[in-house]
Amino acid sequence: MSKNTLEIIADEVRKCTLCRLSEGRTNAVPGEGDGFAKIMFIGEAPGRSEDQQGRPFVGAAGKLLTEALQEAGLSREDVFITNIVKCRPPNNRVPKEEERSACKPYLERQIALINPKIICILGRTAYESLLEGGSITSNRGRLVKHNNRFYFLTVHPAAIIYNPELKTIFKNDLVNLVNELRKMEEKKGSTMEDYV
Ligand code: URA
Ligand code: SF4
Repeated sequence: MSKNTLEIIADEVRKCTLCRLSEGRTNAVPGEGDGFAKIMFIGEAPGRSEDQQGRPFVGAAGKLLTEALQEAGLSREDVFITNIVKCRPPNNRVPKEEERSACKPYLERQIALINPKIICILGRTAYESLLEGGSITSNRGRLVKHNNRFYFLTVHPAAIIYNPELKTIFKNDLVNLVNELRKMEEKKGSTMEDYV
């Protein structure tokens, strides 16, 4: 098969049995949004609501993400939202290393196709899996470049449920993320003009 589209990846994910998380799932959650999105959000793993609906970030954490996106001037349809692993771990435990690595090619193909300007890392699991990792609370709010891609680091919206003080921090981070994108696009614009 030579074609590689987001829909093909999603179909493969829905049938996937590459790791044991396939055994407990109701629905796999490939991800959704704009295939040409400039910003891509990557969380940890589907939770209960996501597993039931086959859609990312539709439970309590998803409500917080959707709200923060709106306050930053974006809708869910403007971005692409997915997770490190596409199937729900039992009792929402953190996905294991072998599950993350089994699932990673799907995410890599999604990133390559969408080619976002900025990848927004939501929380520690995505931070560990995609970058060098470390403390997300002390590194959040930063834009980092890695292998020619830009990553913006922030906390996982589910963390707000346990620590309400993070709500303003998370919302401000998303506003800053949108500003970083704007700055990038302005810079690109001025470089273009230099050549006209
Ligand atoms: N938490 C995540 O990391 N991803 C979801 O899709 C929902 C909750
Ligand atoms: Fe396949 Fe990923 Fe689901 Fe594991 S988590 S079964 S690798 S889609």
